Amino acid sequence: MIYLDYQATTPVAPEVTRAMEPWIEERFANPHSPSRAGREAAAAIEIARKHVTSAMGLKGGSLAFTGSATEAINWALKGTVEKARSGTRNRVITLATEHAAVLDTCEWLAEQGIDLTILPVGSDGRLDLDDLARELDKRVLLVAVMLVNNEIGVTQPVSEIARMTHECGALMFCDAVQALGHVEICTGPDLVAVSAHKIHGPKGVGALWMKKGKEPAPFIHGGGQEMGVRSGTLSPELCVGFGAAAKLAEERIHRDYDHVEKLWSVAVKALGPDWTINGSVRHRYHGNLNIRRKGVDGARLIADLRDVAFSLGSACASGSGRPSHVLRALGLDYRDARSSVRLGFGRYTTQQELMEACKRLVEAARTQEKLDA
Ligand code: PLP
Repeated sequence: MIYLDYQATTPVAPEVTRAMEPWIEERFANPHSPSRAGREAAAAIEIARKHVTSAMGLKGGSLAFTGSATEAINWALKGTVEKARSGTRNRVITLATEHAAVLDTCEWLAEQGIDLTILPVGSDGRLDLDDLARELDKRVLLVAVMLVNNEIGVTQPVSEIARMTHECGALMFCDAVQALGHVEICTGPDLVAVSAHKIHGPKGVGALWMKKGKEPAPFIHGGGQEMGVRSGTLSPELCVGFGAAAKLAEERIHRDYDHVEKLWSVAVKALGPDWTINGSVRHRYHGNLNIRRKGVDGARLIADLRDVAFSLGSACASGSGRPSHVLRALGLDYRDARSSVRLGFGRYTTQQELMEACKRLVEAARTQEKLDA
């Protein structure tokens, strides 16, 4: 199987598996227990916390582990609103192309009485900063904008958005799940969510970085773990795995970047001129190649090419049968959105397998065309 679904999840790095093994097998103590074994597990978690924070490149805050980035996002948004309940700011601004974890949480907040604004993007997938400037006033509490889009790889000018947001006295949240390990995480946002399984770490662990003084109200109550802000027993193996993946990502960031740039060129060349790239090519992480071809049915391509793993967009959108909200936000009509597929590649993808997959994709698209003619 040729795996080209790196935005859905990434293969676990062998170094990560090795780092996790002892914490699954013999070193199973509860990291919140005062026993020696418990304290050793707690110490391993602290090292992992340092690695993740360092890979994020952020200073002046703290990092709390969560069960996923989805949890970190829910906590950041709901906890910020909760903390500001007695204040006068009641507006949340986000983008039409955000991940469901952000959009659905924002919609839920709107049901609870928050005034929600969802800003559009241009046909390149980028936010027009003038649109944001027009919305920013003293009623705004929070602006939530992602750094790298999961469906199309397009980046947003997060530093500038954070600067504008702070100028009006609001807070900024950034979903950096698809950015960590690939592009530099911009300093500026007050809250940043990341996930281990997108950087060759294990599934089931994420983190929320919080600028000092901007911590959201606790979202999960209980034993008071994670500095009292996120209760629940931490998993040493998952945190250690996340830490090992983050350390590796930081060490290899330039090597991985160069590799991905080569893969991008190989894929674009192998696909040829019949395919159009969805979203900006320039403002983009090049490990995400979201493409469309007239007359093709993306879902059928996935079914036809059983030995190549790729997807329609987000894993969630693929399951629903609904055309992607991100592609629709770029202005693609229903047909063009349906004729799009996403190829996601990275550290362990070889040029040969990518070329082979593109060749099969091109052939399958031509076969579809002939059958439908
Ligand atoms: N945000 C983005 C941009 C993502 O791509 C994902 C995962 O697909 C998430 C959030 C949710 O991450 P997790 O799987 O850790 O809940």
